[in-house]
Amino acid sequence: MSPVLEVRGLTAGYGSLTVLRDVGLTVGEGEIVVVLGANGAGKTTTLRALSGLIPAQGSVVLSGTELLGRKADARARLGLGHAPEGRGTFTDLTVDENLRMGGLRLPRNELPAALDQAYGLFPQLTPLRDRAAGRLSGGEQQMLTVARALMARPRLLLLDEPSMGLAPQITANLFAELRRVNAESGTAMLLVEQNAAAALTIAHHGHVLESGHIVLSGTGSQLAGNPSVRRAYLGV
Ligand code: ATP
Repeated sequence: MSPVLEVRGLTAGYGSLTVLRDVGLTVGEGEIVVVLGANGAGKTTTLRALSGLIPAQGSVVLSGTELLGRKADARARLGLGHAPEGRGTFTDLTVDENLRMGGLRLPRNELPAALDQAYGLFPQLTPLRDRAAGRLSGGEQQMLTVARALMARPRLLLLDEPSMGLAPQITANLFAELRRVNAESGTAMLLVEQNAAAALTIAHHGHVLESGHIVLSGTGSQLAGNPSVRRAYLGV
């Protein structure tokens, strides 16, 4: 089966600063792939380059269509979802309004089913539907960010450090939710994370990014057992 996402030779940066050099990775149908890396390794830059927020060279093919050269909103229409870093919710809007914003591009008659699905996937959000997003806990806001991105029914969801700022138990719960959503909806996910221990529990495949290069790749369990990953990212 052809992959959902195939990235080759991805090079990107900011002005004259090149951050990513020759990054290659693939995400298969229904897969969760994680990119691990320390602060400043280029994880956020990778997602920005994929979703079209910064210019890039190379090749990024989503379900057979080249994305480079297309604007960010065109990439979203082709099925690329992005749950950005730092709880990208509209804090003054309610949970329900945030979810509806996520479904703006859906045909109007599909919105009720998409809302039902979002609350079905994240039942914790149901009693909070009329609460302003800014008054949710950190974990609830991360769930809302993911649920909102899923409203657009992406083929592939990009997730930027969903564990950021969360306590370990909340992170564990959120990652279990991500794995369940992936299994139930079949949505492929590309996740960038500093929290290797949590991310490797749910990843089918993973890559380690250092200074804008991929230096190591393998299945989630291969990486979790790799001595240099254990030393550098798992603190073992
Ligand atoms: P973190 O976990 O700290 O967010 P990261 O792996 O996501 O790290 P990036 O945010 O991709 O790292 O940053 C990679 C490099 O690009 C860093 O050296 C950073 O200083 C630089 N950088 C990031 N954003 C910009 C920008 N808007 N303009 C210039 N340089 C930037």
